[in-house]
Formats: sequence, C-alpha cells, structure tokens
Amino acid sequence: MPLGVHTSIAGGLWRSVERAVGLGCDAMQIFGRNPRAWAWSPVPEADAALFREKREEALLWPVAIHTTYLINLCAPDDVNFDKSVFLFKKELGTAERLGADYLVTHLGSPGEMGGDFALKRILAALKETAAEGLGKKTRVLLENTAGGGARIGSSLPDIGRIIEGASAFGLKTGLCYDTCHGFAAGYDIRTPGDIESLIKAVNKEIGLKNLRLIHLNDSKGLLNSHLDRHEHIGKGKIGLEGFSLLLNHPKLAKVPLILETPKKTEGDDPMNLSTVKKLKGESRFFKP
Ligand SMILES: [Zn+2]
Ligand SMILES: [Zn+2]
Repeated sequence: MPLGVHTSIAGGLWRSVERAVGLGCDAMQIFGRNPRAWAWSPVPEADAALFREKREEALLWPVAIHTTYLINLCAPDDVNFDKSVFLFKKELGTAERLGADYLVTHLGSPGEMGGDFALKRILAALKETAAEGLGKKTRVLLENTAGGGARIGSSLPDIGRIIEGASAFGLKTGLCYDTCHGFAAGYDIRTPGDIESLIKAVNKEIGLKNLRLIHLNDSKGLLNSHLDRHEHIGKGKIGLEGFSLLLNHPKLAKVPLILETPKKTEGDDPMNLSTVKKLKGESRFFKP
C-alpha cells in the first residue's frame, strides 16, 4: 500500500519530488500546471527531464497528476467542451512526458442535459484522445465526485460504464476512489458491513483490478451531504474506525493511497501521514 501526499510544484516541477521525499512518501500526486487557469503552455523539455530524473532517483511509485478543475468533459456548450478536451489532451501529453503513471480527472457536469448526454460526451472526448495516440504510457483515472448539482461521476455504475466504453476503443482507464467524495455521495465505510458493500459495489461496477488509486480524505460533510470538503484523517465524519477498516482490508492491500487533506500548517501532512501509518496494521477496529 504505497502512501503519498498531493505536493506543491511551487518553484519548479522537480521541487514536488523533493517535498514528497522530505515527507517520507512512497507515492505522490501533483498538479501539472496551475489548476485554475485555462491558458496552456508546454513544460520545457529541460524541466520535464529534471522531473523524470529526480523522480527516478526517489523511487516514487505511483506518480499521479491531477487535471485542472476547469476541465468539463461533458460540458453542454460546444465552446466549453472543445476547450476542455483541448486542455485534457494537453494535460495527458504533459503527464506522459513527465513519466506519470496516472492522470486523475473529474468528469464534470452536463448542466440540464442529463446522464446519457454526459456519458456520450465523455466517451467522445476520450475517443478523440485515444485517436491521437495519447494514453499509451499514462493511464487516465476517473475520480468519483461528491455529486450534487448536475454533476455526474458520483455513482460507481456511471464510472463503470465509461471505463467499459473507453476500453472498446482501446483507451485504458481506471478508478481513483476519493473517500471524502464517496462518503458525501452516500458510500459509507464506518462499519465492516459498509466497507464490504463498497468493495462489492466497486468490484461489480468497475472491477477491483481497475481501482488504481485511493484519495484518502476524511469528510467535513455528513454521509450523503454532497459536500466536497476534505478533513484531516480521523477528524471528520468518517472517523478513525472507518479509515482503519479501509486501510486494513485485505482486498485493498495493494492500492496506492494519496492524501489530499488540508494543509494549513507545515505539520499537517506529517500529522496525517502518521495517523495513516498508525492505523495501518492496527486491527483495533478490524474484525474480519
Ligand atoms: Zn480530484
Ligand atoms: Zn480527490
């Protein structure tokens, strides 16, 4: 169960590797660029090479890149959709140049247009991506969302349909399961029965082997609140018991974990990492 943190790229992409190493991480996630801007410029080759070199030295695995929040792969209006697909392809290209294992993306919102429209749009976007030869080195992971509004991607069956659809034209994808988003969307993990149900649902709708990454976040919002607000591990509405169950479940033993918990002080990442390490291997709450 490789463990890592979403780290900052301030000062240069390679600095994120230095930060991850400083925290004692096995794995890492970064933004490949400013996550709140449309303007795109390529990463200079020297920067990409330095990143690859530092990452190799650090033996980090996996390295995930999270796409910008602006991308909406099922935007109802064509201008926004085209801009989103353009940026998505550029981000996947960057991820491949950096040698990233995964590109994690949200699915967006179809507005009033509904789920079937969204599914068609997303598959069209992924098909265009595959047709350009992208996605051969870096696997695209679809992240479950907290739901709410007209967003899709909070239900595992929806994500499963997209993963299946994409495999039909040869694009390898997978699931990045975010524990905060899942809880806010109604997937509970606080009792052994809950975690079994979640794992069954993932296996049925997605296939457990397609669960490639877990975003480990506690939730400020209640179960089914559709609130996307991350909290420190054990200090939110999921709580220590839920995380202990998840971290010690034999079927999840090999899935890499990335923390996206709040970072208000320097001590926050070390605190959450140590909570996870303490819970892992501790069977206080775990009764198989
Ligand atoms: Zn995300
Ligand atoms: Zn996440």
